[in-house]
Amino acid sequence: MATKLTTQDHSRDVAGLTYVYPVLSRRAGGVSVGINFNVNNACNWRCVYCQVPDLSVGSAADIDLLKLRKELYFFLDYVDSGRFYSDFSVDPKCRGIKDISISGNGEPTSLTSFYEAIEAIKEVLESTSKIGQIPLVLITNGSLLHRKGVRRGLALWGALGGQVWFKVDSASLTGRQIINNTMMAVEQMMDNLTFAAQNCDLWLQTCLFNYKEKINFDDELRAYHMFLQSARAKVDIQGIYLYTTARPSLQPEALAISPMQGYQLDRVADSIRRLGFKVQVSY
Ligand code: SF4
Repeated sequence: MATKLTTQDHSRDVAGLTYVYPVLSRRAGGVSVGINFNVNNACNWRCVYCQVPDLSVGSAADIDLLKLRKELYFFLDYVDSGRFYSDFSVDPKCRGIKDISISGNGEPTSLTSFYEAIEAIKEVLESTSKIGQIPLVLITNGSLLHRKGVRRGLALWGALGGQVWFKVDSASLTGRQIINNTMMAVEQMMDNLTFAAQNCDLWLQTCLFNYKEKINFDDELRAYHMFLQSARAKVDIQGIYLYTTARPSLQPEALAISPMQGYQLDRVADSIRRLGFKVQVSY
């Protein structure tokens, strides 16, 4: 193999596996071992900035749990042996697994066997003595956390020390309709956030970008601040991760979207810090 990993390349098949892929992650600040349940590129949302190729509206198709186990075993051993770093020309500064993250080409909790998939991951982590050694992260849009199987899976994820990074791009119903193409009500979002926080360390992840003529950013920011203040009364939020679009959207709205500049992100971050929250920013 002669590929060089970059933060721009998030292709899920870079290592030639079906479910497991390495990524140089801005969020994790180094190598993240990704697990993709959505090999059919299906999501129940359609965010206007989404970078999933051929995104379709729907749920993850059934996965082969045995193959998931085998691939995770293989990949962790590949990294531990050092061969991965030389094969992918990973900068020595970025070596070491920063996290194992369930993050794929769609919403991972839409997988019917979500609980069983978490069990499979647990089995591999236990037998390779990785539990407690590497942070575990579930990247989710949070919209399906009321489902029974997802709740069982989240409870197990939390027992393994797993975190949940819950997407909140907008605190207004109109904003969520425009940005995420979802009608999820704020009450549902709050219920799902509450369950996530009761079981796992909870971070909010918010994608900020310029989308002129569609979003009144000042109104959005006001609603976001109010949401955070009311959420704080019910939910333990560890922090907020702000990022912008690093790669072009593959959605029809792509031409109307542009990344936020660093100073704009900093302004938003500072306004949230003033409310007393921890904020991490990726530029
Ligand atoms: S939730 Fe994630 S995968 Fe789904 S449409 Fe939005 S950005 Fe794409």
